[in-house]
Parts: sequence; C-alpha cells; structure tokens
Amino acid sequence: MENCIFCKIAAKEIPSTIVYEDEHIVAFRDLNPQAPEHILIIPRKHIARIEALTANDTELMGRLVFVAKHIADNLGLKNGYRLVFNNGANGGQEVEHIHLHLMGGRKFSWPAG
Ligand code: AMP
Repeated sequence: MENCIFCKIAAKEIPSTIVYEDEHIVAFRDLNPQAPEHILIIPRKHIARIEALTANDTELMGRLVFVAKHIADNLGLKNGYRLVFNNGANGGQEVEHIHLHLMGGRKFSWPAG
C-alpha cells in the first residue's frame, strides 16, 4: 500500500530494527518504546485495521501471535509480557496497518489507560 509507513518498513524502503521476518510477517523495534522491550509485529499484507479482516486472514492473525511467542522466548521474557492491538481512534491506533505490540521487561498495570 502506497504511503503506508509499515508497508515501507516491511519492504525495507525505510530503516527499522527488524528482529524477525518470514514470508508473511515482519517484526521490528518500536521507535518510541513504552517498555524495555517493545516490538511491533505486522503482516506483510496491508490490512488497515481489525474491521478490515476477512475469514481468509484467520491463519495470518494466528501467525502474529505465534511470532510474538517466538520473539518473547528469544528475548527471555520469562515473567510475562503484554500483547496489544490498538484498533481505531478510541483504541489509540495511530498507524493504519494492523500491528501487534509486544511489550516486556517491566510490570504493566490494568486496566490500560
Ligand atoms: P499504534 O498507536 O498502536 O498505531 O502504534 C503505532 C506505533 O508505531 C507507535 O508505538 C509508534 O511509536 C510506532 N512507530 C511509528 N513509526 C515508526 C517507525 N518508523 N519505526 C518504528 N516504530 C514506529
């Protein structure tokens, strides 16, 4: 998708610190980390937000979570971590390309702000 910053990161047209990539998924460090470890996990396919998902994306969305588990293992996040989809304006979504936040290395409170 033209003008999508995360599509450009996936295509390596703009720099990022990629920590994982495969045929379907790319994961990179958040530019403005909210925790000692803060990774964004995205599908290569441009999907703006959760409402745009179709049944065909079921496996892809599962892959996001499975990659999160893999990265958390690699980072040694043995005491847990938080996985977040910010979705839409009220959800706090700023980038219109589905992304799963993986945050770890500190304790998080609940409810989220
Ligand atoms: P959200 O508010 O859920 O849409 O989160 C978007 C996230 O993308 C924020 O945490 C930003 O810090 C992060 N972000 C924006 N631009 C970049 C970039 N070029 N490289 C890495 N992370 C970015």
